[in-house]
Amino acid sequence: MVKGLKAALAAGAAALALTSAGAAHAADPASSVVAIKAGRLIDVATASVKTDQVILIEGERIKAVGAAAATPIPAGARVIDLSDKTVLPGLIDTHTHLTSDPTISYLESYHISAPRAGLFGAAGAWRTLRAGVTTARNVGAGAYADVALRDAIEHGDVPGPRVFAAGPMISMTGGHGDDNHLAPQYNYKEEGVADGPDEVRKAVREHVKYGVDLIKIATTGGVFSSNTRPETTHFSLEEAKAIVAEAHNLGKTVAVHAHGPGGIKMAIRAGADSVEHASLIDDEGIALAKQAGTVLSMDIYNTDYTQAMGRANGVPEVNIQKDKDIGDIQRENFRKAVKAGVKLSFGTDSGVYPHGDNAKQLAVMVRYGMTPMQAIVAATKTGAELLKAQADIGALAPGRYADVIAVSGDPTTDVSRLERVAFVMKGGQVYRGEPGQCAVAPAAWPCDAPAK
Ligand SMILES: [Zn+2]
Repeated sequence: MVKGLKAALAAGAAALALTSAGAAHAADPASSVVAIKAGRLIDVATASVKTDQVILIEGERIKAVGAAAATPIPAGARVIDLSDKTVLPGLIDTHTHLTSDPTISYLESYHISAPRAGLFGAAGAWRTLRAGVTTARNVGAGAYADVALRDAIEHGDVPGPRVFAAGPMISMTGGHGDDNHLAPQYNYKEEGVADGPDEVRKAVREHVKYGVDLIKIATTGGVFSSNTRPETTHFSLEEAKAIVAEAHNLGKTVAVHAHGPGGIKMAIRAGADSVEHASLIDDEGIALAKQAGTVLSMDIYNTDYTQAMGRANGVPEVNIQKDKDIGDIQRENFRKAVKAGVKLSFGTDSGVYPHGDNAKQLAVMVRYGMTPMQAIVAATKTGAELLKAQADIGALAPGRYADVIAVSGDPTTDVSRLERVAFVMKGGQVYRGEPGQCAVAPAAWPCDAPAK
């Protein structure tokens, strides 16, 4: 009772403070309210740009958003002035490999231990966050290094985006998630390899036991694996259905790596939440995805990097050729999917290219049929829906985490503006901004100058 009364009094006082506040105040360092003045603000829910807005933040979350005239800044609030910027929700990349470094050749990778991969992850996570990606879905990491990275970020050991971790990819023997380089006498199989409905169910249970947020599987071969062909179908429908049923039963979503049309359609029919790459999707696959509401997470930037830098990074010729064969077709199929109105998220396959360049994909998404606003909605609202985290992220709205980024100019006319982020806030802490902005909500981590 007393507790309830106290809370009611506190709420009343807060409301009073909100309504009685004047226009200008000295910042009170003890105040827990941060106010962002946004010259332009992208409302991804309505796909519109609003001018002269104020975001009020208390602790980690947004308390109020509205027109400056109707959203008084409480007395003593600390103010971040982004009046000359466009402010939008932090980006959500639905396909990352934070614990991978693209400059490590496949031969060198045999010397990379799981702890070393975790440290790559710490570096990758920082680069990703300072580039404006405040949430990263990590779809595949050996030895649950991505689960460890997620926990380290949450615990405050290292700075990084919110991580949704998949752990090791589940694939069939000889599949994209297996390691097929070694001769039989080495008798090696990758973790996450499972065959048959019973084994794949068990693999899902094990992954959940070790703390994953989602399940990643492969229903086709891949570009950068050995002895697999991207167009071929892996697993049976029965196995795929067993995986999805078990994952959903345990409250986890399923991301399916699939290039070929057979594996894509099998994933959709099995009830997968997203199809990754979807490179060779056919008309039937597009229609199925639209009907089922399956999200396609198509990585249509990274071919530019892998074709330019693959050889220097020690990628075998056979993989470079597979990548080349698929890249252009995937981009044209992305265009078809946009036209058909399929749900598309912003998934980049970072780790195949350098972490922090994530936003370069947005311009490619626009080149292949999206409007800049559609690309921004894909990278915020749609990503949050795919993660089933709409209550927390994906929009600048009361109750959500204060994951806020800002750029100069208008990204709804020139989406490449998002490649040069001026301001990054995650959970109310500033990680990038001008010195004055960094001082307003000091983080435990370095606060970078804006990207030039
Ligand atoms: Zn990937």
